[in-house]
Amino acid sequence: MQTERILSLVPYAYERSAFYREVWDAAGVRPGDIRDLDDFARRIPTITRDDIRAFRRRTGDPYAGGAEMSRASMVAAAAALPRAPIAGIGRYRAGDQIVDFPIGWDETDRDTAWAREQLTRWGVSRPGYALVTAAMWQGPWVSPVLRACRELGITFGMADVFGWDSRRTATFARRLPLSMVFGLGRETAEALADAGLRPGLIALLGPALALECPQRAGAHVNGAEWLVEETSDGLFLSTVAERAHQARRVPLAIAGSVLSGPCPCGSPDPRVRLA
Ligand SMILES: [Zn+2]
Repeated sequence: MQTERILSLVPYAYERSAFYREVWDAAGVRPGDIRDLDDFARRIPTITRDDIRAFRRRTGDPYAGGAEMSRASMVAAAAALPRAPIAGIGRYRAGDQIVDFPIGWDETDRDTAWAREQLTRWGVSRPGYALVTAAMWQGPWVSPVLRACRELGITFGMADVFGWDSRRTATFARRLPLSMVFGLGRETAEALADAGLRPGLIALLGPALALECPQRAGAHVNGAEWLVEETSDGLFLSTVAERAHQARRVPLAIAGSVLSGPCPCGSPDPRVRLA
């Protein structure tokens, strides 16, 4: 969906910006040549600040041909595009089966509202900076949290959790007053705990997301959406709300306990404490 939007902005930019038209014409690129992100990466010429300055000087146009491409007009153009029927697709393991599951738009909105409540409990508020180090495949679980960040006015950067991206992580950590790092791996979290910090737990329970609150009394699961059952065979998850994918007693292959009383943080949601 993101790809579709990026690609649709190519003809839009070409039509409305004399600057892009000139640069792309010079490179022999037509909007019709850009059919996917590969084409985009390979064929769309890189533009530097100097190119824009040169264009401004030459044409005397302070907007560098982009007067019709304000942020508002581009957002409106992107919003007018047909929306994909689902918000995304995730994948989880249930026993020895791999389940691909659709994610609807309504539940994405509800998940975002819930994530926003959880972030607020952590005192995350504007203006704030966050670093997100989640892996690509975790997108379906992380995206409501990112949307919540956006709604809360949090600026976030993304880095991969793997060692090869550690310089980016370090740069974010040095340059921005980070108030939250989301998606650290277990090893990093344990190292931080050894260093005296107390990272909160994030758990992917099948298609559901569980987030610990600052009281750290187990990871909260949105009780309006999911039911987690504790059995002698481990934890099982079911959907209770109307979602695009209905999970029925999915074995989570995780040992733990479910706490259903109210949490000291004030949330009525059940909590999962992993063994
Ligand atoms: Zn709590």
